[in-house]
Amino acid sequence: MSKVNLYNREALLQQIDSPDKWDVLIIGGGATGLGVALDSAVRGYRTLLLEQVDYAKGTSSRSTKLVHGGVRYLAQGDLGLVKEALYERGLMLQNAPHLVKNQSFIIPNYKWWGGIFYTLGLKVYDLLAGRLSLGKSIPIDRKETLDRIGTLKPEKLKGGVLYHDGQFDDSRLAVNIAQTCIEKGATLLNHFQVTQLTKDGEGIVNGVVAMDKETNKEYVLPAKVVINATGVFTDQILKMDNKDAKNMVRPSQGIHLVLDKSFLPGEDAIMIPKTNDGRVLFLVPWHNRVLVGTTDTVLDDHSLEPIALDKEIDFIIETANSYLSKRVGREDVLSIFAGLRPLAAPQDGSEKTKEISRSHKILISNSHLLTITGGKWTTYRKMAEDTMEKAIKLGKLPKKECATTHLPIHGATQELDPTDHLSVYGSDRKAILELIEKSPKLGEKLHPKMEFLCAEVVWAVRNEMARTVEDVLARRVRALFLDAQASIDMAPKVAEIMALELNRDQAWQQKQLADYNAIAIHYVLQESVASDKQQKINLKTKISN
Ligand SMILES: Cc1cc2nc3c(=O)[nH]c(=O)nc-3n(C[C@H](O)[C@H](O)[C@H](O)COP(=O)(O)OP(=O)(O)OC[C@H]3O[C@@H](n4cnc5c(N)ncnc54)[C@H](O)[C@@H]3O)c2cc1C
Repeated sequence: MSKVNLYNREALLQQIDSPDKWDVLIIGGGATGLGVALDSAVRGYRTLLLEQVDYAKGTSSRSTKLVHGGVRYLAQGDLGLVKEALYERGLMLQNAPHLVKNQSFIIPNYKWWGGIFYTLGLKVYDLLAGRLSLGKSIPIDRKETLDRIGTLKPEKLKGGVLYHDGQFDDSRLAVNIAQTCIEKGATLLNHFQVTQLTKDGEGIVNGVVAMDKETNKEYVLPAKVVINATGVFTDQILKMDNKDAKNMVRPSQGIHLVLDKSFLPGEDAIMIPKTNDGRVLFLVPWHNRVLVGTTDTVLDDHSLEPIALDKEIDFIIETANSYLSKRVGREDVLSIFAGLRPLAAPQDGSEKTKEISRSHKILISNSHLLTITGGKWTTYRKMAEDTMEKAIKLGKLPKKECATTHLPIHGATQELDPTDHLSVYGSDRKAILELIEKSPKLGEKLHPKMEFLCAEVVWAVRNEMARTVEDVLARRVRALFLDAQASIDMAPKVAEIMALELNRDQAWQQKQLADYNAIAIHYVLQESVASDKQQKINLKTKISN
């Protein structure tokens, strides 16, 4: 008996053909928008979410992949923010155990006072986590530090501090949250862009105009409450509401480099609490590679594909090299990616992002448009709860309670084999293996250097709403982020499998490859190195959307 496919685009499109008003319409399918859609759907509201490209296309696929309270915010004395995030960290681990794991971190100490100072600070971190603590923070001696991280520079090393935080796969969690929303009755569409807000005679927002980017068909979609969850695009939506609206968001760029596992061969991550210019840098094991980042560069403009600046790349390589005995060179970088923090803009016009609050902000415009911005991936659930509480206060929705605290996310299971890369699919892993059993060719690898299988492409199209080669290679399997050149090499195979699944022709495949290569080339370091001047020009050229 064949099961109804809830994630089928045609079926989802039929759901928006009805003239009935949506209770809640969310613009933006990053962590924030998806969280709101989930909260709304689970409360029982008729919910629609529209994403202009793909789930987590924006910042939400470009994070440091940490589920954390923020050791840095602890240092800044923001205990409330840290406590809230540590609680959410615990819930994320419970609700999506297939994607969130307990990660050990070591702070290497090269100063005599480091051990005491960081152990004390992290004890406060443990206390704030309460019963959702992931493990005790303890000082470790020089020998244990070097035994655990063999690639750490031994000269002048005094010892280390071991602590625990969460680590996850950001875009896979986004896709699984999208699936959960649909299972709970919401309608979600990716590649669907909001182009206008509609208003009633009193100037109150009562829906949106949106376009299916695959067919260019336009839809007018009425809604009781419209929520703007568009990250660094927030101000664009605010200006659709009021062309004179003040900017609410200031983009701050953070980049990451991905290296081979040999640079950090053990299980532990490294946390460098204070780099030369006072930032925090992480080296974290991720999908059998090492993720190194990040930076904090305030920009005037935003784009869907921000580009790393040369000075940011140099900063990360230099900092890594001052801690690692195995030297990192540009040629070792497998992938480089940049993301933009949608920080709440300071109203005094100041430049310092460290002084811009990292907590989330909810704004209700005179037109009743609700905007949620700031925050972080770790707190997506709480941000959604707060947003929906405000939405209910607008008086257009019947009051219903939040029910996401202990809600399992699609794929959640405790039966995991961390040595199998398919374990990120959680309870779906079995169905992927069944695909391979039925068609053994689907068990072949997409590229000899990478773990990903042809079956994952089929799965992504049939069950995870992937529509383009980029959707698959960037956000379903993480090939673009793990080894950009290998991802470019495997793209033709992915296009071929997708064309069969989606019933597309050769021309579609060619266009997909051209589009993919144009994006992926910026993730290959050697090719993406341009002068800062050139890059600034690119940054100012907004990708048209
Ligand atoms: C470098 C970096 C590292 C980070 N590391 C961490 C970390 O380790 N842990 C953590 O908890 N947090 C981290 N964060 C923060 C976290 O990633 C962000 O707070 C979060 O992803 C923001 O999600 P969002 O949904 O608000 O924005 P986005 O993910 O950018 O989503 C907004 C979406 O809106 C869509 N959109 C825009 N306009 C329209 C339109 N007109 N119609 C339809 N859709 C539209 C966009 O395409 C986009 O997908 C990090 C952030 C950065 C930049």
